[in-house]
Amino acid sequence: MRAMRLHASGPLTDDRLSLDEVPVPEPAPGELLVAVGACAVCRTDLQIATGDLAPRALPVTPGHQAIGRVAAIGAGVSGWRPGDRLGAYWLAGTCGRCRFCVAGRENLCADARFTGWDRDGGFAEYMLVDASVAVPVPTGLPDIQAAPLLCGGVIGYRALHRAGVRPGNRVGLFGFGASALCAIQVARHWGCEVYVCTRSEAEQRRARELGAVWAAGYDEPCPVPLDAAVTFAPVGWVVTRALASLDRGATVAVNAIHLDEIPAFDYADLWWERSIASVANVTRNDALEFMELAGAIPIATQVSVYALEDAISALRDLEAGRVAGAAVLAVAPTADRM
Ligand SMILES: [Zn+2]
Ligand SMILES: [Zn+2]
Repeated sequence: MRAMRLHASGPLTDDRLSLDEVPVPEPAPGELLVAVGACAVCRTDLQIATGDLAPRALPVTPGHQAIGRVAAIGAGVSGWRPGDRLGAYWLAGTCGRCRFCVAGRENLCADARFTGWDRDGGFAEYMLVDASVAVPVPTGLPDIQAAPLLCGGVIGYRALHRAGVRPGNRVGLFGFGASALCAIQVARHWGCEVYVCTRSEAEQRRARELGAVWAAGYDEPCPVPLDAAVTFAPVGWVVTRALASLDRGATVAVNAIHLDEIPAFDYADLWWERSIASVANVTRNDALEFMELAGAIPIATQVSVYALEDAISALRDLEAGRVAGAAVLAVAPTADRM
């Protein structure tokens, strides 16, 4: 089979990923062999390729937003049949024994394994997936549309929960990239009033098209006190900006792995039981719930499609900010089907 593999991290030269011919892997007990239809490309894949995130295994096949079909089933797996469509996402497995895992907070497991980092991901014609983390993919979403939901979509959904969003709430979204594009569709589906702060006027327009009641730049004060907020920009001052927009008792969830320093703020902005929460990784329940919801809404995504062997172009375009919507590798000829 063909796989775009990373042998050593570094600048995105033509040969940073090499198109290797490797044997189709055999599923071990508990695993599924998946024929990949499409795999979306995430900023984390870029960080692993360049070495911003030190690779944990080499060579490795990146890609942690893969949609495919079950091609073979390992011993002891139940609930999956050949041909079933599934999604593989960032969480590849957890220890299952630590106090976080047993309490249903497996996103905090210190021994978690990740797809396309600890084990081979979806930039290949086949991949192995631990059956216990695989999620079904709803009908109605073609592979290339469903793939980008598996990272930014799922984490945006978790962020809405971390912010305590309830149906009908007034919700603020600060920053409006791929993850927020999914979050607004979920919030609108829940009947929330959505307020969007983003610098880009094109993104403000897009937010209004998707049902935001108000969208403006960061310098304009939010017109109402918010019941919940999520920040998507990796910038500390945006968090204080969101905090200052909250009603009493409300939470701002910070959807960022890295953030520069949060500037000093007046304690009055936190008083009245306001909270700042971070969002780390996802659980398999987040992925299950979100993918089901994505099919029911159904969530619309904008994609730029690349061939598997053009993965390096996709990474470069992502690095240069040239991708409209999400970059997706169409791995199988059936990638545009449901
Ligand atoms: Zn990702
Ligand atoms: Zn654990």
